Amino acid sequence: MKWFDKRYHTFDYELKETFGQKVIKLSLDAGFTCPNRDGSIGSRGCIFCGEKGSGDFAGSRQTSISKQIEEQKNLLSSKWPNAKYIAYFQSYSNTYAPVEVLRQRYEAALSCADIVGMAVATRPDCLPSEVLGLLEEYSRKTFLWVELGLQTIHQKSAGFIRRGYDLECFTKAVSSLRERNIRVVVHIILGLPGENEKDMLDTVSFVSKLGIWGVKLHMLYIQRDTDLYDYYCAHPFDLFTYEQYINVVCNALEMLPPEVVVHRVTGDGVKELLAAPLWSLDKLRVLSGIDRELERRNSFQGIRWNC
Ligand code: SF4
Repeated sequence: MKWFDKRYHTFDYELKETFGQKVIKLSLDAGFTCPNRDGSIGSRGCIFCGEKGSGDFAGSRQTSISKQIEEQKNLLSSKWPNAKYIAYFQSYSNTYAPVEVLRQRYEAALSCADIVGMAVATRPDCLPSEVLGLLEEYSRKTFLWVELGLQTIHQKSAGFIRRGYDLECFTKAVSSLRERNIRVVVHIILGLPGENEKDMLDTVSFVSKLGIWGVKLHMLYIQRDTDLYDYYCAHPFDLFTYEQYINVVCNALEMLPPEVVVHRVTGDGVKELLAAPLWSLDKLRVLSGIDRELERRNSFQGIRWNC
């Protein structure tokens, strides 16, 4: 089974099939905060969350949304002059504000030229019914998905990363979004300390049964602007080697249903801030390693998917 030349259902494939042309995500910082940072749930955030609220490659929050979009489009237009774009509300929790404020920010993005969809990254505990209603409204108007950072199903690890919500909260949020026909993308971190491969694949298996639209698989990496870095310095623990990660991520891909869109199979650390693992900076090597390993196994996404 193949998705263009890949043995897994890539995001790029999905966008080309859906839109019939090049579509690029523009990462935005809409100026929101997060209950895990503003003191409502916690004040230091998730242990791996950096200064930019998990939006390291997003635009500047000092800049208007339309300006962020314009700036990023300008950078991309010489390479892809006819591309369309998805407005990706990435930094912090992008449903953590009154509905009128959310509407204003979403409209600011969708009213820009060539924007054909919207992605909203948030927490499952930031989806009250009025926000779900707003998202449902937008899902009828545009190509919308909502991203939730689950990372793990295991409570011990969730406590370690200071996630601040339980698994039930997550599953309820996924159900509420799915009832409204809103696409859901779930983030999973592979390689959290204290988890073995079975624990990681249990998370993948659990998520794969929720009827979600997509996943993002990240390897755990350590940036210097996070509390995780301080912890790692004080209590060093093993991180994946390149070979180990390729093996685990291929096992995870085999367990995902073929229709689940794989948005990401590697981490996205900032070069200047990344402490470890340094091999993760070479994304092309990781991607080609995954391709080679799936080919070596004569395998593909879904080969071990079992309802
Ligand atoms: S929920 Fe997201 S923005 Fe909030 S602390 Fe965690 S990673 Fe950072």
